[in-house]
Amino acid sequence: MSSALIIGDGPGGLSAALYLAKNDIETTIFGQDETPMHYAMLYNYLGIPEMTGSEFQKIGRQQVKDLGAELIEALVEKTEKTDDGFTVTTDGGDTYSGKYLIIATGSSRELAESLGLKRGEEGAIEATREAETAVENLFVVGRTTRPHQVQAIISAGDGASAALLILSKEKKEGKRFCDWDSVDD
Ligand SMILES: Cc1cc2nc3c(=O)[nH]c(=O)nc-3n(C[C@H](O)[C@H](O)[C@H](O)COP(=O)(O)OP(=O)(O)OC[C@H]3O[C@@H](n4cnc5c(N)ncnc54)[C@H](O)[C@@H]3O)c2cc1C
Repeated sequence: MSSALIIGDGPGGLSAALYLAKNDIETTIFGQDETPMHYAMLYNYLGIPEMTGSEFQKIGRQQVKDLGAELIEALVEKTEKTDDGFTVTTDGGDTYSGKYLIIATGSSRELAESLGLKRGEEGAIEATREAETAVENLFVVGRTTRPHQVQAIISAGDGASAALLILSKEKKEGKRFCDWDSVDD
């Protein structure tokens, strides 16, 4: 089974983890639940008329764990590109490796820069609209690449986009993968 590492556990990282774990990619997500979502009162997330950001995070964190993602409550201090993917090292000194890496670190952009990614307008880490970067199998989502559009639903959409690109590579040999379920399933 291919593996994906996700740094950052806000809406962007959690959404990517949801799509990947749901579709049987071995998924490890790192974060200490220190997202600014804990200051938010959501009235603008489609499908959720009203919810605190803390409740949103609690549900999201449980949802990805239930789907099989491993949530590591640690800070990532270092990440490196290897011949067959990426490694990340936590503040506890543990090292993990994976074929794919998604960076979803919000306003912290140093780890993305350490992998050679460039900053563009307003300090945004450069990535395509679909979250691809100049480095193969490395994706950047949410606030890290969109400092000018800091909304939870946009970060979650970016996370889904990065995951769909990974799933397209893994399951459809590059043809587009859609994560659809129907009422008849
Ligand atoms: C007061 C306030 C109110 C808001 N209200 C709303 C609102 O009503 N509606 C709305 O849509 N948005 C609102 N927002 C914005 C919302 O919080 C952001 O859009 C959202 O959090 C961005 O999600 P993200 O996943 O891109 O980044 P973040 O949520 O910032 O997530 C990044 C995560 O990565 C973690 N991280 C960073 N570096 C590392 C590392 N090295 N290792 C491990 N983890 C790391 C961080 O701790 C954090 O948990 C509000 C924000 C604030 C401050």
